[in-house]
Amino acid sequence: MNTESLFIGYKEPSLFGRYITLETIAPLLLNYSKLILIQDEGHSEENRNIHSITLGTGKFNILMWSQMHGNESTTTKSIFDLLNFLSSEGKLQEQILKYCTIKILPILNPDGAVRYTRENANRIDLNRDAQDKSQKEIQVLMKVFTDFKPDLCLNMHDQRSIFSAGDTDNSAVVSFLAPAADESKSISETRAYAMRLISYLTNKLQTLIPNHIGRYDDSFNLNCVGDTFQSMGVSTILFEAGHYINDYQRENTREYIFSSLIYLLEAVSNPKILLPEIKYYFSIPENKKLFFDIIIRNAKLSNSSTTVDIAIQFEENLNNKKVHFIPKVRQMGDLSMFFAHKNLEANGKLVLINGSNSIQNHHIVNDLSIENEKISIF
Ligand SMILES: [Zn+2]
Repeated sequence: MNTESLFIGYKEPSLFGRYITLETIAPLLLNYSKLILIQDEGHSEENRNIHSITLGTGKFNILMWSQMHGNESTTTKSIFDLLNFLSSEGKLQEQILKYCTIKILPILNPDGAVRYTRENANRIDLNRDAQDKSQKEIQVLMKVFTDFKPDLCLNMHDQRSIFSAGDTDNSAVVSFLAPAADESKSISETRAYAMRLISYLTNKLQTLIPNHIGRYDDSFNLNCVGDTFQSMGVSTILFEAGHYINDYQRENTREYIFSSLIYLLEAVSNPKILLPEIKYYFSIPENKKLFFDIIIRNAKLSNSSTTVDIAIQFEENLNNKKVHFIPKVRQMGDLSMFFAHKNLEANGKLVLINGSNSIQNHHIVNDLSIENEKISIF
């Protein structure tokens, strides 16, 4: 199967970039409501609708939700690409919808999506509220979980651009986790199933983004939704859409999440497909925090002969319904252990930021020069 051509064929053209809100997807939901069951499942803390989309008639129930963290929109885009695929005619679509019932909650945190924040309107991280259930958004998810009785949950997120796949200079474009179900991280049958599915997906993705797939840390935290569902005996997979080179809009990663979803649905709906053993899961490199967006290497800041490396990280800032990437100095020193999505070699030449050699952490980089030559960091 060629998921690249499927993506070209089914990519939802009205969605682009990082700022995706209920307003952005409302016309799509309206259109789909003529074909597919769209329901109001409840409301957010600020009374925005939380919708569900249900497809298929099969016995295997899959529950997925995106944007539980409001500013993590990549998987929402992939979900609508997937919907375009699933609502078209074809053998694979038929097989999936015959075997599975799929319920999707796109944008579980619509208030955070509007603000472009991780947290909801009450500044609560919903992925730490699985036990307290203090927030309406989590109450909606729990109610859907209880009523729908999923066999498999897909918890869809974005991760920052700081992650590498293992101790390598390969960014973690996509990462997965089969969350732990208890303190001892035991491997129950349902967790093993999640691990084997992830292994299958990783194998498939290797042809698209070789060595750019990571495995997330599995420290147990029952306040996280994935750990809670796994502990309740329901196979759960965490998806993390990450950074692909020069893809700050996450339009490439969107494709790899789409591909993962297609491969996953193909695997669960076809008993003839054999999943790898769980030992493969443990061979997927663990996510490490080894990346900065930019590193200026061997910069001279004064007349002395010593040099430093300067790391710059983009901060995402919402302004006028657009996400702006603000470059800020994040760390200085010997950063030879770290990798960058963009390396600038100063070779011991004088570096000025905003016309000054007095550079400190958190400075916004409006202007960069190396030996009086202006350098563009975008
Ligand atoms: Zn997240």
